[in-house]
Amino acid sequence: MTKQHRTYCRLCEAGCGIVVDVSSDGTVEKIRPDNDHPVTKGFACNKGMLCGEIHHDPSRLNAPQRRTANGFATASWDDANTDIAERVNAIIAEHGPNSIAGYIGNPAAFNATAGPALALFIAMFGSTSLFTTGSQDCSNKFAIAEMLWGSSQIHLIADVDRTDHMLLFGTNPRVSKGSFLAMPDPIGRLGAIEQRGGTVRFIDPRCIEPNVGEVIQLKPDTDVYLLAAMLHEIDARRGFDKTGAARIAELNTLREFLSQFSAEVVAPVVGLDAELIVQLALEFADAPTASVHMSTGVNMGRQGALAYWLMHVLSLVTGNFDQPGGNIPSTRGTDPAPAAAGGELDAFLDTPWGSYRPTVSSHPCALLIDMIRDGAIKALFVAAGNPVLTMGGGLELAEALSSLDLLVTVDLYRNATGELADWVLPATDWFEREDLNTFVQGNQVTPYVQWAGAIVPPIGERRTEQQIFNAIAEKAGAPIMFPDSVDMLAAINDGALGNHGLSLASLRERTDGIALLEPTVPGTFLDRMRPGGMIDGDPPMLRIAKERTIEQFAEARNEPTDSLKLITRRTSHTINSALQNVEKLKAKGAASNPLYMSPIDADRRSLTDGTNVRIANRWGSVESTVKIDDTLREGVVAMTHGFGNANTSGMPHAQKFPGVNVNALAPFGPGSFDPVSTMSQLTGIPVEVTALPERR
Ligand code: SF4
Repeated sequence: MTKQHRTYCRLCEAGCGIVVDVSSDGTVEKIRPDNDHPVTKGFACNKGMLCGEIHHDPSRLNAPQRRTANGFATASWDDANTDIAERVNAIIAEHGPNSIAGYIGNPAAFNATAGPALALFIAMFGSTSLFTTGSQDCSNKFAIAEMLWGSSQIHLIADVDRTDHMLLFGTNPRVSKGSFLAMPDPIGRLGAIEQRGGTVRFIDPRCIEPNVGEVIQLKPDTDVYLLAAMLHEIDARRGFDKTGAARIAELNTLREFLSQFSAEVVAPVVGLDAELIVQLALEFADAPTASVHMSTGVNMGRQGALAYWLMHVLSLVTGNFDQPGGNIPSTRGTDPAPAAAGGELDAFLDTPWGSYRPTVSSHPCALLIDMIRDGAIKALFVAAGNPVLTMGGGLELAEALSSLDLLVTVDLYRNATGELADWVLPATDWFEREDLNTFVQGNQVTPYVQWAGAIVPPIGERRTEQQIFNAIAEKAGAPIMFPDSVDMLAAINDGALGNHGLSLASLRERTDGIALLEPTVPGTFLDRMRPGGMIDGDPPMLRIAKERTIEQFAEARNEPTDSLKLITRRTSHTINSALQNVEKLKAKGAASNPLYMSPIDADRRSLTDGTNVRIANRWGSVESTVKIDDTLREGVVAMTHGFGNANTSGMPHAQKFPGVNVNALAPFGPGSFDPVSTMSQLTGIPVEVTALPERR
């Protein structure tokens, strides 16, 4: 007999409600959108409907695997835990606790206990060597939120349903559905702004395909200058909103900084006419209400932290901050994490690899290679991550990881990083574990919490991250914060849920596990969150970012006109490196990652559709095939990341369609990242493209 289970998809931040049909023998038969979900209301995408393929994929890990001289061999949990624990203790005895590091990958964001389980595991050994995927996609936002509001997780979101004008930087909601702005059917929601007479503007180097609003195509990695110019022009032509401006201390220092970036000066660097920049500025200032959103296209550039801060300033000095139709706080059902490092200069660490400010207590991933090479890190535990394909470094990173005394991955698959590991441990998936949608709390247009129970028993010997790390810690004789007997989900979240009259127990009793939360009434945020209700117009933490931005602006003014910058291109058939083994997605268009190039740039280099090319820079080189794409502006090429599985025998479909690792072209090492936020540069990267000799 088939049983229906209501749960939610945990592949992306939309968190769509889904209904899963499970047969009596535990087979996931069918997944469909949950039309009765009170928020997502039947919205879902193609990827979420394929989670059953991953659950039953014969290539999934069902037992621990150990590297042997003859490849990987299945082992018992007891052997795995004993060997790993002995090696951890030996490494700590010789090199100290910080030589044991942890890396938390993106899918752990959608698994409420996985990240905390790994972070606590290394902390209980006395290690602070934590790395997260945040420094590949969003640490700039975390850093500014820590500086402004004392928590990486507090963000004011665009009031999409009430705004008259929405400006979106570096986001493609049709494909990615959104980040730090959780709403189902984002295109429908944005279309509604136009239907009520409002305006929608996207800022992106590529003419993305929203079919709503207008796309302004700027040069990659120049958003910060556009924002600065918009602010300068608003001040000069309209004047700042007096109430908003009164909330900024050191306003004149801010004005002085902005004065370097008039529309006229900035125009050639951002690649837009000065008149258009002024128009963008004034339409934001003049709209009855205006909201602004920024995403990975800016985050992954070089000045994401400063850009995110200027985004807050734009909202504030146009009278839209914490106002209906502007940018507003959303209610959280769970506690925001406190900031481990403040916004002052003394929060920076002086290290052998330069000075930087850890964000969310984490180190820059761009330094991982150097830290391993220099002997500071000897063991790495990776939970739900694939750093080999998602960080800069390419072969050098693979070599560094291979040189570790101990590499352990905990994942659904033996992925490209797992192929280098000593131990590969099998994790449970969404249908096999209990969960809470902690990942979108505070970022939801309609705030709610959703609990989901396990709907099938784990296949084989798959275990949760809590169970996995506890068992190793027990063997090693290390303390355990949340033993298996403790309800970790409730222990972490019941306090905050109690503020809403909820608890894990009460959510578990609901048939759908969902509780809607009261929306936050805007208007008091600054008074609640800032001393005296003021923000600093010249934050000490950002002085370094400003200096770097001024230097990089000078460099950008002198860039050769025919240079190429590489941006990342998301598709509807991939999510980072996570879905690479799903055969049906390969058939739908995720079989390769070509180099997208504008017709003008292709003509200039005598390249045509299908030409085999080498894409290279000082960091590395990859080979791909040109695909002409007239949605790109001149001087911009694009590739999709997450590919590069030629050696990933643990994921045979991925290996059959390997593509290339575009992040092999990304900068790494000291000086390559934003020291304010730890963000790596993974977009807007200078490259050269040359045709490969024809193969005979
Ligand atoms: S948009 Fe697609 S991938 Fe994202 S949560 Fe919804 S169904 Fe899952």
